[in-house]
Amino acid sequence: MQNIYKCRVCGEYTESPIHCGVKSELILDAKRRVMLSKLMSGLLRHYPQEAGLKLDSEGWVSIDELSMGIREKWRNKELYQWVTREHIIAIAMLDPKNRFEIKNNKIRARYGHSIDVEIKYLKINYNGKLYHGTSIDKLDMILVEGIRSMKRKYVHLTTDIVNAREIGRRHGKPVVLIINSRCLEENNIEVYKATDKIYLVKYVPPKCIDKILH
Ligand SMILES: [Zn+2]
Repeated sequence: MQNIYKCRVCGEYTESPIHCGVKSELILDAKRRVMLSKLMSGLLRHYPQEAGLKLDSEGWVSIDELSMGIREKWRNKELYQWVTREHIIAIAMLDPKNRFEIKNNKIRARYGHSIDVEIKYLKINYNGKLYHGTSIDKLDMILVEGIRSMKRKYVHLTTDIVNAREIGRRHGKPVVLIINSRCLEENNIEVYKATDKIYLVKYVPPKCIDKILH
């Protein structure tokens, strides 16, 4: 990830060191950005209580509470004393995968939760190609049992094959499965849209896996 700057003219957060024709102000270097972004994902998806946070039923928490929780209650808080609400907002707004959503001074993760939240996703009829990234050692099981969400609430599918491969690589030697969206529909499996590129389902049966790309 790149540094985040704030434009001195228009006030926008940007990855560009020059904006509106002038040098912008550095507010977050790449290293701190990655660090804080990972922590935000962890707290908003998996372990809010570890920074003393309580998310509401749809996964929201106030930005001020999140920033205070990180500075005051997180176990590695000494690494995060610099964090302000502005850093959190800038990260959310520029996230390359649209992981975060901000509304009315509150923030939540758009997808990826293992904790029990009820986010009302848009149900859609998706007709294009969907990909799922996994590792080669999970493949045999998937071809027998289908794709299950395991610890998370949903199986994540993406329209972005590069992203699918990246996700697979996190778990070992990557493979990308091409999912037949028509087959999902025929089997009454609802498809929800989390972002422009991320779609969620509860389960993918083996017969809806069209192809395996190694
Ligand atoms: Zn500007």
